[in-house]
Amino acid sequence: MVFDTNISASLRCKKCGRFFLGDMSFFEMKNAGGSCIRCECGEVLMTVKSHDSKTFHVYIPCLICDKEHSFVFTWKSMPWEKVKILNCPSSSCDIAFIGGRAPIRSLTAKRKKDMQELIKLLSSS
Ligand SMILES: [Zn+2]
Ligand SMILES: [Zn+2]
Repeated sequence: MVFDTNISASLRCKKCGRFFLGDMSFFEMKNAGGSCIRCECGEVLMTVKSHDSKTFHVYIPCLICDKEHSFVFTWKSMPWEKVKILNCPSSSCDIAFIGGRAPIRSLTAKRKKDMQELIKLLSSS
């Protein structure tokens, strides 16, 4: 079995408000400066650093409280094949979804579908 060492994240840009889905590989995270996901507008949405290849530090500039939050994962707790929701500790709002490429895409597709159904429902009534 080929282990997918890519992590994807879906989060909202605090500058332009767009939802953005980005990927980064484990090899990029190990780089000295870490790896980041950038929105199309150039804003950095998330940075991941791993100095020892065992712990992963995830930094997210929060769009709710305007602070930078950090989350620490280990190789084991990193959601390589799942999806994890990251919350803002001061408002407990969801600020990002991180996880494996496939689960993140199916989740965002589902959310998009829910949204379309909701719009359909609202416009038909
Ligand atoms: Zn943006
Ligand atoms: Zn926050």
